[in-house]
Amino acid sequence: MSDKDWYSKGLRFSCQGSGHCCANHGEYSYVYLTDDEVEGLARELQLSSTEFRERWCTLEEGWTVLRMDEPNCPFLTEERRCSVYPARPKQCSTWPFWTENLREQHWEKVVKALCPGAGQGRLFSPEEIERIAAENDANYDA
Ligand code: SF4
Repeated sequence: MSDKDWYSKGLRFSCQGSGHCCANHGEYSYVYLTDDEVEGLARELQLSSTEFRERWCTLEEGWTVLRMDEPNCPFLTEERRCSVYPARPKQCSTWPFWTENLREQHWEKVVKALCPGAGQGRLFSPEEIERIAAENDANYDA
């Protein structure tokens, strides 16, 4: 059996607006940013890239990462919405179909526990899921 067979009929996901994926908790606390994403976010906030980096970023093992506040990302509003949605990083827009999440035990135990939208709503085909995961990987490999 291939390690992809468990999602051969696809996986369901519809955002329920919980904001849990935008919270500061353990391994999901890092939102990695490419230079293009820094520029896009800076434009969205009408800042220069330098100002954006100074105010909103830290460095983590050579990567620029979004400064994650407690208990949430600083861009999560009280209404549990992303205030930089049009420029949100690829990592955010591709959740929960990340390569690291496409393991059955991890999906069932970790992703579903974190995200009330995982397993709900729209059915994504295996091809769509893998396209989204590859898009996310490619963004950070570039
Ligand atoms: S940038 Fe937006 S979508 Fe990404 S973690 Fe922050 S609030 Fe959530």
